[in-house]
Amino acid sequence: MAMDKRISMKVPLVEIDGDEMTRVIWGMIKDTLILPYIDLKSEYYDLGLPNRDKTEDQVTVEAAMAIKKYGVGVKCATITPNAQRVEEYNLKQMWKSPNGTIRAILDGTVFRTPIVVKGITPLVRTWKKPITIARHAYGDIYRDVEYRVPGPGKARLVFAPESGEEIGFTIHEFKGPGVVLGMHNLDDSIRSFARACFNYAIDTRQDLWFASKDTISKTYDHTFKDIFQEVYEKEYAEGFQKAGIQYFYTLIDDAVARVVRSEGGMIWACKNYDGDVMSDMVATAFGSLAMMTSVLVSPEGHYEYEAAHGTVTRHYYRYLKGEMTSTNPIATLFAWTGALRKRGELDGISELVEFADRLEAASLKTIEDGVMTGDLAAISELPEKKVVNTGDFLAEVKKRLDLSL
Ligand code: NAP
Ligand code: MG
Repeated sequence: MAMDKRISMKVPLVEIDGDEMTRVIWGMIKDTLILPYIDLKSEYYDLGLPNRDKTEDQVTVEAAMAIKKYGVGVKCATITPNAQRVEEYNLKQMWKSPNGTIRAILDGTVFRTPIVVKGITPLVRTWKKPITIARHAYGDIYRDVEYRVPGPGKARLVFAPESGEEIGFTIHEFKGPGVVLGMHNLDDSIRSFARACFNYAIDTRQDLWFASKDTISKTYDHTFKDIFQEVYEKEYAEGFQKAGIQYFYTLIDDAVARVVRSEGGMIWACKNYDGDVMSDMVATAFGSLAMMTSVLVSPEGHYEYEAAHGTVTRHYYRYLKGEMTSTNPIATLFAWTGALRKRGELDGISELVEFADRLEAASLKTIEDGVMTGDLAAISELPEKKVVNTGDFLAEVKKRLDLSL
């Protein structure tokens, strides 16, 4: 029997499978571009909706715990159920967002960076370099308590300290029906969000911008601003000076205006909701959600790589009818390369790091050679373009990867 020439691994990668079209693509990527080259050591968690339902969503918690144990995970897009999905999949209940559950366990910050290729020009003319969104992945409306006020009455915000008197404030005296919401965040979480951003800025030698609405939210948002400033002055000011980069705080509305007029090339730190919204805006303006990397970095230094887009349901329904789909696998593929590279760095396996680099380069070369999925063909300015389905695209990537190895 011939010797296995594939790259071997030391520590398992936490592999988190998902739903619909991205689940199909997940298998194609593994078969075509991972398993022939790597003796993959992975601990597999099936977060496909049927299995989340079967395990009462325990599998999601176990997957997050496994990332805490091994340090690196790669996640496929998953369905966040709504009423329609409960019916479609005959679910026991409307399970929570798996990403929300995993982020709540790992805490941390999500970094999203557009993948820039020749032939695709950002819609914003001034943008020359990628803009990375750093999204705080804990708290605010993602962990809120909401209440539909049925009619007249008083809503109060009450805090009961472990010892001492309760403190209360009137939120509103309702004369009729309305809505009320309570949310929170933690100094520790904000501080680790700040550190993750400052570290990432120094690592990548890019300026860091942070913005909130501290003029209106004089305690909540202002606390974010103050903690960032304190962490910066105490721990990072010197490092920033040495790296020749800047930390810059401004109001969120001013930040939006400045980002659009900028050249790009900075990290834009956003509170949880701002980051959710702004990352879609930045991704779309750079070309496509399918051309965006996404990694969750926990304060303990654990990493979860994923695609920023969803399960591409509309394509999946076509796939189920037996049609070929031209779904872009780049973001899912880059989740794999990101995770494998990080595993290689942590375990000192340089072949794994190099493989990830070459696989990414081969993917971009394929697109720059004019071979691409439909979503990119619609926006690429290359004179000669060939639209291919997902399988053929991956085969073209493999050709270029083999040439480079
Ligand atoms: P989506 O899956 O991102 O797809 C929205 C549309 O964007 C698609 O219909 C497609 O447009 C285009 N698109 C997205 N990714 C693409 C790709 N890789 N290649 C080509 N086109 C792509 O968002 P959604 O339809 O709102 O959500 C579908 C499911 O995904 C939902 O159940 C949601 O809960 C889940 N979701 C999961 C995550 C996650 O796990 N991270 C994130 C968001 C949503 P055309 O149809 O026009 O071609
Ligand atoms: Mg979103």
